[in-house]
Amino acid sequence: MLKINDLHVAVGGAEILKGVSLEVPAGEVHAIMGPNGSGKSTLSHCIAGREEYEATSGAVTLDGDNLLELDPNERAAKGLFLSFQHPMEIPGVQTMNFIRTALNAQRKARGEEEVSAADFIKLIREKAKVVGLDNAKLKRQFNVGFSGGEKKRMEMLQMAMFEPRFAIMDETDSGLDIDALKMVGDVVNALRASDRGFLVITHYQRLLDYIKPDAVHVLADGRVVKSGGPELAQELEKSGYDQFIEAA
Ligand code: ADP
Ligand code: MG
Ligand code: MG
Repeated sequence: MLKINDLHVAVGGAEILKGVSLEVPAGEVHAIMGPNGSGKSTLSHCIAGREEYEATSGAVTLDGDNLLELDPNERAAKGLFLSFQHPMEIPGVQTMNFIRTALNAQRKARGEEEVSAADFIKLIREKAKVVGLDNAKLKRQFNVGFSGGEKKRMEMLQMAMFEPRFAIMDETDSGLDIDALKMVGDVVNALRASDRGFLVITHYQRLLDYIKPDAVHVLADGRVVKSGGPELAQELEKSGYDQFIEAA
């Protein structure tokens, strides 16, 4: 489903990713762990199509389509969803309108009908409850003045609404308390399906108590230095990342 093949990414002229390869088959959840500065966010920004993150060589395909040749909207239309470590604020745009516009744009790109206003409101209220956001938040400007935790809940609200084909979550767990972590786990687990995949980027093992990954990859200094099963996350929790920093 998602294939990353020998991806090199440069930011501001410096090579940050130095040949990353990994494959997430449909139906699976893979975790990427690694020390700060190893390039985890660079990977998600590049796959999202942020301009400053230039893929200098390699490929990223979703269902065989090279994402790197598509603009960010086309990537979203293919069913790619990214939850960023630092979600953006959009002053002047009401949360509900923003999500409805994005949802309908994706539906349209897939040749599906737009959701009616009534169905949309019903759906977003239901999902807002799941992620722990009250209805008043939906009427506010998108993410403006929201706390870090509320922004992460908003990311999970969008993921639940969009039902993406493939989701990449960049440190959604950072800054969250236990209840919010459990909520993130609930949203991911409810979406898990044989035709959907996830790449869950995290610095800590604790999120993986709620989201059981099929595989864990360790990123250090722009390379995948180790891959294994879920037990690798437990091992890292005990032994830390230093071993890989030395090796990298
Ligand atoms: P991680 O998410 O694993 O903590 P990042 O991908 O954020 O790592 O960063 C990897 C490296 O790339 C760091 O050295 C960081 O300073 C650099 N980097 C990331 N984004 C930028 C940017 N926009 N401009 C300059 N350097 C960047
Ligand atoms: Mg970091
Ligand atoms: Mg990061």
